[in-house]
Amino acid sequence: MAELLITGGAGFIGSHSCLMLLEAGHNLVVLDNFDNSSPESLKRVLELAGPSAADRLQVVEGDIRSAGDLERAFEAAPAGRPITAVVHFAGLKAVGESVREPLRYWDVNLCGSRQLLESMQAHGCRSLVFSSSCTVYGLPEQTPISESAAIQPINPYGHSKAAVEQLLADLAASEAGWRIARLRYFNPVGAHPSGRIGEDPRGIPNNLFPFVSQVAVGRRDCLQVFGGDWPTPDGSGIRDYIHVMDLAEGHQAALDVLLAEPPQLLSLNLGSGQGHSVLEVVRAFEVASGRSVPHTIVERRDGDAASTVADPRLAAKRLGWRTRRCLEEMCRDGWTWQQANPEGYGR
Ligand code: NAD
Ligand code: UDP
Repeated sequence: MAELLITGGAGFIGSHSCLMLLEAGHNLVVLDNFDNSSPESLKRVLELAGPSAADRLQVVEGDIRSAGDLERAFEAAPAGRPITAVVHFAGLKAVGESVREPLRYWDVNLCGSRQLLESMQAHGCRSLVFSSSCTVYGLPEQTPISESAAIQPINPYGHSKAAVEQLLADLAASEAGWRIARLRYFNPVGAHPSGRIGEDPRGIPNNLFPFVSQVAVGRRDCLQVFGGDWPTPDGSGIRDYIHVMDLAEGHQAALDVLLAEPPQLLSLNLGSGQGHSVLEVVRAFEVASGRSVPHTIVERRDGDAASTVADPRLAAKRLGWRTRRCLEEMCRDGWTWQQANPEGYGR
């Protein structure tokens, strides 16, 4: 059992991970400014975790860029049991928005991470799991992508994640004792099987899965498939989709390894190693939902790659973790959430 600070714990991946970490018996302090989430997600996390979790989750509303807010979060841990590790989800994640608002992205993602690390250092806390992204690989030269592939992001979001990765490497090299996992997620989708927590994007979704599920539920008319002429078997783009529950398990495994092993800096892909095309996702979602998903093929989206699939072998070797849930389960659970919460958390 550990005292953990979870930044961005109310968000999509954070809420599922909080649930799993509570179920594993940890005590959590969540720091979130609810910029892209609702306190309702954490209420539901507590409801799913059951009565034994009620006094093991403290929520601090605040910003990772504020030293004062971070101080309040570190102080929210029970007396005599200081925070031993941080799981750092807080950040901005929309590629298109990052192109329009690079200052905001660099500020939250890089300056926020820098401030968090300074607070961690001040509190003698040197264990961190960081949410990175396969976006750091940019347009990969080959796929499956291994961790040794070049880091060459192609947009401000990816640049900001790569910069934090570099900062973490510099910090680990400067001072003994840091235990850091830089987890490069592929495409997280799906929801908790209860349908009580899930992904709740603001406005028009940028990502395929929430868009498809909003078409299926009737909130949007038609999916645009970005490109039908990619060099893939059916012409649509291929991605490595990972069930958010598998991703949450990956965080738990990374924390266990970091806390058990000597200090180290890990860089790991969290993906399934399996690629699915946009048209395969559409078909699987239609089967899971029993609804049709009208779609039309349009021009390719700028900056997209034909295919990005993880080589997940290093994570399997270092963490003893691999994905267990298939595309059908991603669609089934995503649909259960969408159907029960057609307007998300109602923000
Ligand atoms: P999300 O937007 O649902 O969650 C992020 C959380 O951070 C939200 O609750 C938001 O309110 C909070 N937050 C944002 N700025 C903050 C700030 N300045 N201070 C405190 N809290 C702040 O996103 P997610 O999908 O759960 O992603 C979590 C992390 O994983 C992000 O860092 C993201 O870049 C990374 N990631 C996500 C994906 C994906 O497709 N979802 C893929 C790769 C990496
Ligand atoms: N995509 C699509 N229509 C959409 C959103 C996405 O065809 O409305 C495609 C996109 O071109 C890519 C795949 O779906 O091939 C996954 O896109 P997403 O934005 O979800 O993730 P990312 O581009 O970050 O991998």
